[in-house]
Amino acid sequence: MEKTKIYKINIELKDIKHLVLDLIDEAQNIRDENYLPRCYNYESWHIPLTNYYKKNKKSVKINMADKLAFVVLLSYPKKYIETLKKISDLKLYNKNEKDDPDSDFIYRGVVEEPGSNCICSKCSIKVVHYVENKYSGIRLQVGSDCIQRSKLLTNKELQKSKDSEKQYKKKLDQQKKELERLEQIRLEEEKKIKEELERQQRELEQRIKDYDPCMDCGDLKIHKSESHWRFRCIPCYINYRQEEDEKKEEKKEETTLPVGVCFLKMKK
Ligand SMILES: [Zn+2]
Ligand SMILES: [Zn+2]
Repeated sequence: MEKTKIYKINIELKDIKHLVLDLIDEAQNIRDENYLPRCYNYESWHIPLTNYYKKNKKSVKINMADKLAFVVLLSYPKKYIETLKKISDLKLYNKNEKDDPDSDFIYRGVVEEPGSNCICSKCSIKVVHYVENKYSGIRLQVGSDCIQRSKLLTNKELQKSKDSEKQYKKKLDQQKKELERLEQIRLEEEKKIKEELERQQRELEQRIKDYDPCMDCGDLKIHKSESHWRFRCIPCYINYRQEEDEKKEEKKEETTLPVGVCFLKMKK
């Protein structure tokens, strides 16, 4: 799985010390737009390096290890750089697995930041690891590949980064599963509602086929087999009868004529 490629730093401190010292104030100036701890793309710090070598030492080809080392240099206090003899003293890339000397960087955690860049400029970042220079407090972001091969951290700190990444991925996985579960519930609910509406629609269509509307309330309650003689549903019929009876009652009261007259009148 792991490529056994050797990452070698080609730049030399004697060549670029002045460049580092020129840029370090800017890199560590909180008001600078490319202030290192706020940087998510380190290109603006790589350009002076590549330009310098293009102009002064064409034979040296700047690789990702060089770019990483250059940004790492920019994260130290100025005084530290002034007294540093050579880049290899930082022991980047070539720390022995067995002895685990102190590192200048401590591990500060992991987040997912799409579109972010590693200090090496090249390795693709899915998750960002934060490392902090313990002399300056400057934080840098490093991809999962570089955190392993650059040897910026002690083995113990590196283990922290592996554990964090594992936990972080587990958390993301759980979140994803939970979202999928909720989406599943939503889809099932939606299906149920749709099925219920379709069922109601079918029921209505069937009812229109079998029943005619009541002439008073309009409800489909008169079965087609009866609709030639029945015009009202039962409740409406009861109402209708009651109203008719009441009307008759009123008429009776209005015409309280002697029985005979009434009888004659009605006969007529
Ligand atoms: Zn990288
Ligand atoms: Zn009715």
